[in-house]
Amino acid sequence: MDTILVVNAGSSSVKFQVFAVEGDGRLQRQLKGQMDGIGSRPRLRASGASGEPLADRAYPIEAVADIPAAMSVAGAWLKDELNIRPIAVGHRVVHGGADYAHPVLIDPVVVSRLERYAPLAPLHQPHNLAPIKSLLSNFPALPQVACFDTAFHRDHDPLADHYAIPHQLHAEGVRRYGFHGLSYEYVAKRLPQVAPEVAVGRVIVAHLGSGASMCAMRAGRSVESTMGFTALDGLAMGTRPGQIDPGVILYLIAFNGMSVSQVQDFLYRDCGLKGLSGVSNDMRELEASADPRAAFAIDYFVYRIGLSAGMLAAALQGIDAFVFTAGIGENSVSIRARIAERLAWLGIVLDPAENARHATRISRSDSRIPVYVVPTDEELMIAQHTLTLLMNQTLPSPKSERI
Ligand code: AMP
Repeated sequence: MDTILVVNAGSSSVKFQVFAVEGDGRLQRQLKGQMDGIGSRPRLRASGASGEPLADRAYPIEAVADIPAAMSVAGAWLKDELNIRPIAVGHRVVHGGADYAHPVLIDPVVVSRLERYAPLAPLHQPHNLAPIKSLLSNFPALPQVACFDTAFHRDHDPLADHYAIPHQLHAEGVRRYGFHGLSYEYVAKRLPQVAPEVAVGRVIVAHLGSGASMCAMRAGRSVESTMGFTALDGLAMGTRPGQIDPGVILYLIAFNGMSVSQVQDFLYRDCGLKGLSGVSNDMRELEASADPRAAFAIDYFVYRIGLSAGMLAAALQGIDAFVFTAGIGENSVSIRARIAERLAWLGIVLDPAENARHATRISRSDSRIPVYVVPTDEELMIAQHTLTLLMNQTLPSPKSERI
């Protein structure tokens, strides 16, 4: 059976999923796995479509020292033990810069263009590109597709795409890109099935996971995002501060003597829920904690979502629906309830029983603005894009090279 491999590589882990391509072109998830602890305590874990364990094994550090090694160990496991030889690989790539409004078939020219965006996402882009480069050199004829977190936001109005800085910097790429685009694109595709009456309208989608942002959509297209040039802006996140006065950064450098890399580490790793609570970056742990700082961190998270909803409602000139997605949005009954309470002024009234049972529609029938929970599936989105590009290209024989 033909399969598509989806890869999401981070600094110390490579997550992957395999989708079977069915006769009618539909995709069926076969397995999920990840190699984590790369370069420290490598461990391969994988489970099948119904969650049944397929692998859980540790490797010596020298066997999986970097991402290319992780790719070859995981690839060998897929091939040798499960006889999975993908016909194409879809990759999550955080930054498509100003050039890429759509997924793209990868070749060496595309790779060098994407490398130019590394300064725009220094903690993600190089890791996203590492497996692409190693597959490209080991299996040059294997079709690979890059799917971008920025692409869904690329047709923002120039007003939403600019900072109030000289145009030269915009031309250099200093723009408000927006991220989590694969998640928003998936939600936009699901919404006509979930709530056709609002899918054509003005919808705020809150992607609340360890990274968090919100997107204003009109008729399924992004018009505004809480994130901008990097994935640091907007909402408070697990370890990132969200919106912060740039003067704070100047203060850290000028008066606290921090270097650029110290500031970078601080902003990406030590702020947000973790920095505010001093307890954890994980919402489940904060909800379970009796520490008043954990409660304050949650209050702050909810408060800033409320503020951002106001901003996005202004961008849309009103809203017709509100959608929760990602780890916190899909699972936390209490955070959803608290956000809905803050948005009562917009006309949102939650149904506590529907919220508690994680229904698709969690607002009361008399709520002026309906509220939905739509579980996201960025990997399926990547697999679909990969298959679409494969089918639209006249490729030399996609089956000629499989890994
Ligand atoms: P994600 O990045 O989408 O995987 O989301 C991760 C975040 O979702 C973490 O902060 C988790 O604590 C949070 N999360 C997952 N399940 C729950 C839950 N049942 N209640 C509260 N937060 C949750």
